[in-house]
Amino acid sequence: MQSMTNTDTADIESTVTQVAALSRAGSELVRLTVDRDEAAKAVPHIRDRLAKQGVSVPLIGDFHYNGHTLLADNPAAAEALAKYRINPGNVGFKDKKDRQFAAIIDTALHWKKPVRIGVNWGSLDQELLTRLMDENACAAEPRDARAVMHEAIVQSALISAARAEELGMTANDIILSAKVSAVQDLVSVYTMLAARSEYALHVGLTEAGMGSKGIVASTAGIGILLQAGIGDTIRVSLTPEPGGARTLEVRVAQEILQSMGLRSFMPVVTACPGCGRTTSTVFQELARNVQDMITDRMPDWRRRYPGVETLNFAVMGCIVNGPGESKQADIGISLPGTGETPSAPVFIDGEKAMTLRGPNIAADFQKIVEDYIERRFGNSKAVDVETQERHTA
Ligand code: SF4
Repeated sequence: MQSMTNTDTADIESTVTQVAALSRAGSELVRLTVDRDEAAKAVPHIRDRLAKQGVSVPLIGDFHYNGHTLLADNPAAAEALAKYRINPGNVGFKDKKDRQFAAIIDTALHWKKPVRIGVNWGSLDQELLTRLMDENACAAEPRDARAVMHEAIVQSALISAARAEELGMTANDIILSAKVSAVQDLVSVYTMLAARSEYALHVGLTEAGMGSKGIVASTAGIGILLQAGIGDTIRVSLTPEPGGARTLEVRVAQEILQSMGLRSFMPVVTACPGCGRTTSTVFQELARNVQDMITDRMPDWRRRYPGVETLNFAVMGCIVNGPGESKQADIGISLPGTGETPSAPVFIDGEKAMTLRGPNIAADFQKIVEDYIERRFGNSKAVDVETQERHTA
C-alpha cells in the first residue's frame, strides 16, 4: 500500500509529520514530490528525522521534467530515496528525452534503486500518441480514439521499460503504472499491460476525486484488477476535503484489501443497515461506538494481541437477521427492534453467551469485547511494532 504526501517537500517539518502519520496509518511506501532543488535537499533530512522517530517506511521520489538534474545535483537525496518515479511523458522532450531518461536510469543503477515508470494519461507522450493516431487513421479498419489512447499508454510504459533494461536495469527493478481517471479505462489498460509484460504493476486511479465518488471509483477499479490477479502495489488517490486527514487514502486501501479477503488490518464490524424495525438510534450509536472503540484501541491491541485484526464483530438491529449474523461473527449482538423485548442477546464464537439489558448495553458490550480479546489473544507474544515496521519495510 502506497500513499503520497501533499506537503511541500522543502518544508521538512510538515513532510516528516505527514509521512509519519501515513506510515503509522499503515502505508508501506510513501511518495514525495521532488520538484526543485530545495525539495531534493530536504529529502535526506526528512529521512534522518523519520529514522529518529523510528519510522523506516521507504520514500519514493516523484520526478517530472528535471529529475535528471535534481538527482545528479543531490546525491544525498538519490541515496536516501528508496525508488524513483519517472513519468515518460514529461521526462524531457525531443532530443533531450532519451538523454534525460538515461541520466535518471544511470543514477538509479549507481545507487541500486528501482524505478517506477509511471505513465499518466494527463501527461501522455504526445509524440507517441500522435504517431499511433496517424497510423490508426491510415489503417484499413481504424479503431476508436479511446482504444488508440489505451495503446499509447501501454506502449509508453513498455517502450520506456525496454529502454531501461537496455541501459542495464533488471526487470525486477522496474515497476510500471499507467494511471487514468475512469474505471473502465483503468481495467482495459492494466489488463493489456499484464498480458504483455511480467513487470510488477502499481495500480490506482489518478484524479479519482473527492469523498464517496473517489472512494467508490477507486474501489471498483482496483477491486476488479486485484480480483483478476493484476497489481502488486496499490494507491487510492483521493482529493482530501479541506482540513481532512491525508491518511484516509491509506484506510480506504486497507479496507479494499480486507473486504476482498486479501489482507487483514483491523477487526471488521458487520452492521445491518437498519430499517423500519429500528426506530430508535440505539443500534446506530452502538455500531458507531464499537467502530470507534476499534479505531482507538487498535494501536494497543495490535501490539499486545497479534492476530486481533482478523476478528469479526456483528452489531444487528433486530431479531430478523440479528441472531443468525451474530452467530457467524466472533462476537455479535442483536439489539431489540421496535416492539421487541428490550434485551440484547450476545453471541460469542457462535453460541449465545448472555443477554444484556438496561441502560448500559453499549458499555457492557465493549467490556465483553475487551475481555474476549484478552482471553483469546492475551497469550500471544506482544509484537515490537517498530521492529515489525522495519521488517515490513
Ligand atoms: S436485521 Fe432487523 S433492523 Fe437490521 S435491517 Fe434486518 S430487519 Fe432491519
